Amino acid sequence: MANPSLLILAGDGIGPEVMAEVKKIIGWFDAKRGIRFDVSEDLVGGAAYDVHGTPLHDSTMAKAQEVDAVLLGAVGGPKYDKLDFSVKPERGLLRLRKEMDLFSNLRPAQCFDALADFSSLKREVVAGLDIVIVRELTSGVYFGEPRGIFTEGNERVGINTQRYTESEIARVARSAFELARRRNNKVCSMEKANVMESGILWREVVQEVHDKEYPDVELSHMYADAGAMQLCRWPKQFDVIVTDNLFGDLLSDAAAMLTGSLGMLPSASLGAPMANGRPKALYEPVHGSAPDIAGQGKANPIACILSFAMALRYSFDMGAEADRLEKAVEKVLADGVRTADLMGPEGGVPVSTSGMGDAVIAALDASL
Ligand code: NAD
Repeated sequence: MANPSLLILAGDGIGPEVMAEVKKIIGWFDAKRGIRFDVSEDLVGGAAYDVHGTPLHDSTMAKAQEVDAVLLGAVGGPKYDKLDFSVKPERGLLRLRKEMDLFSNLRPAQCFDALADFSSLKREVVAGLDIVIVRELTSGVYFGEPRGIFTEGNERVGINTQRYTESEIARVARSAFELARRRNNKVCSMEKANVMESGILWREVVQEVHDKEYPDVELSHMYADAGAMQLCRWPKQFDVIVTDNLFGDLLSDAAAMLTGSLGMLPSASLGAPMANGRPKALYEPVHGSAPDIAGQGKANPIACILSFAMALRYSFDMGAEADRLEKAVEKVLADGVRTADLMGPEGGVPVSTSGMGDAVIAALDASL
């Protein structure tokens, strides 16, 4: 069988720095576990603009459509702030998401025990937390028409439209149910069915998909505002949360902060299955290109490393190897290894980006 294929788009700022650590880990899996990926690399964001005058060249887009998974670092930076909107680095990322039709965005909120004191919530509320928010990514109020700023009488009016079709709701619901089956088999769907018709349809369709195709999964429904409160009050009651684009944007950011540092948060964006059964997939850390620390060896590579662990689990069905990598990260943190962003009030000497990568490799070695 052909090796699984990966396209690496390291991007800008700290993107290439954190991705260098992931490449070491990909090398480790090849050398020590006999798991070989066909890896290709290309440019995205400002790095692509500098060479091609566009943040994503057509040839890169074509490669992204062909590979089993894309791994992205980060895009953007002050150098590109004044560019026209159409060629800004972020447009490269948006084009990837749109043309690969990545409708299901998985944002885990996982709190490693060693970092529980970094959360703004009490240790007992967050320690050991492990939930995933599935956000619909390609429809809803960010895309619905009509939209714009219009004039009505003698004043302006801003309009956006929340619009969901049954099939758009059904496919993201399926993605959440499939995910729950690999985890603790529980889905909570969040909308505002009390005040929005799109919410009523959302609730009905999620329930229908459940009853017909996933009766074994425990399903509950919650209004999104109550969900936000519950996420702060007792987040461990959840396993998988599925919600629309707007509420998902807010709830996943709030949930992320339960866990502490931006440098720790991975994500996956999945689309429809390809001919080989694997979903179209893009894995990337939640953080941006962090221009304030770029080039200084200070970036925490864990978010990018955990994004690769998600690729092992969701694109390549290598759950045991994903566990191995996540446990290696957990061990490194438990041993007190910290990049600068994870230094607590007790102080200490932070490791560099590559120091953190090396510590994860050493923990992987110890797992054999
Ligand atoms: P950011 O995520 O880049 O940085 C926010 C803060 O978190 C900074 O202080 C940064 O140093 C810190 N930080 C982020 N990642 C870190 C890591 N791995 N290790 C240690 N510290 C880390 O957000 P920003 O400053 O608002 O944006 C910077 C640039 O990144 C902008 O051009 C923005 O458009 C872009 N951006 C890109 C993405 C993406 O590529 N998906 C996401 C968000 C922002």
